[in-house]
Amino acid sequence: MPHAYIGFGSNVGDRLSYIRQALDCLSGDGCTSVVQVSSIYETEPLGNEEQNWFLNGVAKVETDVLPPKLLAILQEIERKLGRQQSEHWGPREIDLDILLYDRFCVSSPRLTIPHTEMHQRRFVLEPFAEIAPDVVHPIFQERVDALLRRATDWAIVRVFSPPPTIGTEC
Ligand code: ADP
Ligand code: MG
Repeated sequence: MPHAYIGFGSNVGDRLSYIRQALDCLSGDGCTSVVQVSSIYETEPLGNEEQNWFLNGVAKVETDVLPPKLLAILQEIERKLGRQQSEHWGPREIDLDILLYDRFCVSSPRLTIPHTEMHQRRFVLEPFAEIAPDVVHPIFQERVDALLRRATDWAIVRVFSPPPTIGTEC
């Protein structure tokens, strides 16, 4: 079955609870199971700095749906958890992004895989390298740990809590 890596983040309300609920939903979805989750990292916001710090992490999932359907599942979970704002880099209850999907490359107006910013954001690369340092970015042909070493974004990224345990309640 294909594997995908999902980046998640929250900086509104009970951030950890939103993340736990999102992972539970993903795991209880029926098409997708969560194989591994990184520690949760607390990260300084980029872009709009007048907002709360984020909690971020990365989950490895196994899925039997193709990328567009996986995106639809993630967006449905975002809606269900009450995500209201959609400003790029702005505050959000929960953000779920497809970082990689096996070695697929997708480029359409609604979906780009690998995620366009994953290779330069330490809030993605730190948790990604924790669970999958040897995964290779299919465009840059570099391992995730090498991308992390080269990242020039110096916003603070620090471990907040251990990987959450995943239920299937949604
Ligand atoms: P952000 O880029 O800050 O995550 P949003 O979560 O609001 O912003 O996403 C905006 C749009 O990005 C979504 O409507 C979706 O169609 C598109 N998108 C493109 N590629 C991806 C991807 N790999 N994962 C998730 N969303 C994506
Ligand atoms: Mg998003």
